[in-house]
Amino acid sequence: MDEKAIKVLITEDEARLARFMELELKHEGYDVVIAENGRIAIEKFYETSPDIMLLDLMLPELNGIEVCRRIRKESDIPIIMITAKGETMDKIAGLDSGADDYITKPFVIEELLARIRAALRRTNMEKTNGEEDILTLRNLTVDTSRHTVTFDDMEIELTKREFDLLAYLIRNKNIVITREQILNQVWGYDYFGETNIVDVYIRYLRTKIDDRFGVKFIHTIRGVGYFAKDEEQNS
Ligand code: CA
Repeated sequence: MDEKAIKVLITEDEARLARFMELELKHEGYDVVIAENGRIAIEKFYETSPDIMLLDLMLPELNGIEVCRRIRKESDIPIIMITAKGETMDKIAGLDSGADDYITKPFVIEELLARIRAALRRTNMEKTNGEEDILTLRNLTVDTSRHTVTFDDMEIELTKREFDLLAYLIRNKNIVITREQILNQVWGYDYFGETNIVDVYIRYLRTKIDDRFGVKFIHTIRGVGYFAKDEEQNS
């Protein structure tokens, strides 16, 4: 089976530079998506689920730091900031906002390619460390190193957050988990949003899995929380 090409989201408002990077990356076998400003970058991020992001710092609409900050709330994909010469302070702000690395314009393409490979290698290493890769719940299989979910052999497209939530439920299958536990584990201790975000994402998962395949994986215990049930039971 062919490996799926790695998808790179390039956010760059200088059209010529964006085009140059696109051609070079495609030549290397990457899939490329271009966003010409910060707002479009966020949209394309949700639409296309890229594996890695190249993010110019100075952008119209939303700047790179703001884009990075927003994406970091949802995803830990590698983000490489592209800065202009002399933007040293901004580099630091970029790293503070959650970027993994930065590269300074003008750069040679070999350096950019090397940074991309290094960033992808780091995330792969982080993923393979720690907990087991393959989680199962009846005919549902979650592969945490490849980031895929399948029902029998049918692939299910999930966002990063949906994926993390599902993986957490399955790691704790047949155990009732409270909304607070889910928030802490899936959204992180520093999450300040509404707790009903959990219910919203449970609903997304039910739409994409339970409803689609006519099964009931995710059960609600009213006033307590949720659990993923491993054995089919007649009711
Ligand atoms: Ca720019």
